[in-house]
Amino acid sequence: YTAANGLYYSVIDAGNRAVLSSSAGPTPPATDGARTVNHDGRPFRELAKTLTKERDEEEGPPVTVRVVCGKDMTRESAVQSALLRQILIAGPAVLLASLAGGLFLVSRALRPIARIAATAEAIGASDLSRRIETGSRDELGRLAATLNATFDRLQDAFDRQTRFTADASHELRTPLALIAGNIELAQSRPRSPEELRDLVADIGGATARMRSIVEGLLTLARADAKSVQFRREPVSLTALAGEIVGASRPLAEKYSVELTLDSPADVRTTGDPDRLRELLSNLVTNAIRYNRPGGRVAVRLSSADNRALLSVEDTGLGIAPDDLPHVFERFYRADKARSRDAGGSGLGLAIAKWIVEAHGGTIEAASEAGKGSRFAVSLPATCRPCT
Ligand code: ADP
Repeated sequence: YTAANGLYYSVIDAGNRAVLSSSAGPTPPATDGARTVNHDGRPFRELAKTLTKERDEEEGPPVTVRVVCGKDMTRESAVQSALLRQILIAGPAVLLASLAGGLFLVSRALRPIARIAATAEAIGASDLSRRIETGSRDELGRLAATLNATFDRLQDAFDRQTRFTADASHELRTPLALIAGNIELAQSRPRSPEELRDLVADIGGATARMRSIVEGLLTLARADAKSVQFRREPVSLTALAGEIVGASRPLAEKYSVELTLDSPADVRTTGDPDRLRELLSNLVTNAIRYNRPGGRVAVRLSSADNRALLSVEDTGLGIAPDDLPHVFERFYRADKARSRDAGGSGLGLAIAKWIVEAHGGTIEAASEAGKGSRFAVSLPATCRPCT
């Protein structure tokens, strides 16, 4: 009963007789629902549904019929199998192609990273002065620039460390050579008590200088390791300055320098009194030592904007403009011979700067060569944080 257009239908009554049908078809199904049947060697999709019409009592019992219809699916299933075939063949091919493409893209994207890593490795191992090329402006370019900046800092720290070690050895070698020379002289032939006293005095001076260098180095090493504990207590800078000025009078007299303290009010801060004493002592001693006979040193204290201000001003040699930016560096000496003769270690201002900054303050140097210098310290009236 297949119709020419590939459709069939059939209406079956309760006695299983076909009341209406398009043409001969497969045996109607016993149950409702959808199924796929083979008819005349062709696949059909078939749907069966029972319909019941209720009737009044006078009209009689309800009428039940089953409607069955089917559609030839030959074309659809041909299209479906062709599609399945295509998917089965094309799927793996597309997968392989996208895998290969992905691998290619990833390896292309990773190539610059590999190059950066190789250069970074070479820089670490051999030569700190090499840098990574920063051609592109994308993320990789920024990564390379960041790494280069880190290398700059590393190289700077490395150079400073090397210079510092060389300077420290050099500084210690000089007094050591003096000690060894004097001992040799004392042993070379019999010496008078006066000669021996002079030799021992020189050895004593050199030993004192070595001690001050070693102590300074130790302080700075601890400062670098951040292992120094600062006390945090109220401190009267006025009282501390009074102490230091009093203790420095003999040195000032020796250098024929007039030493004055000017503190109109009691200037206070919070911090470590021993370290602040060290700071004051370094500045005042320098101002006396790098002065000229008949010169003056003025220590002034004041408060402004919740800050304690301290200045140490001298009428001494001054510092040349080229030297001024470096005076806070370790072992930097504007006048090497004079510093050594005066017993300086070249570490005093580096330590002074560390103390000030650990108290949350700032220190600045101003100077005019031949006229004098002024070291100005500004500390918070309440130190925060005292690290
Ligand atoms: P030093 O132990 O040599 O004094 P510092 O670190 O205290 O070491 O000072 C570094 C250098 O700064 C000194 O060698 C000196 O040349 C210069 N300097 C420091 N203070 C003064 C000053 N008040 N007047 C002139 N030069 C100074």
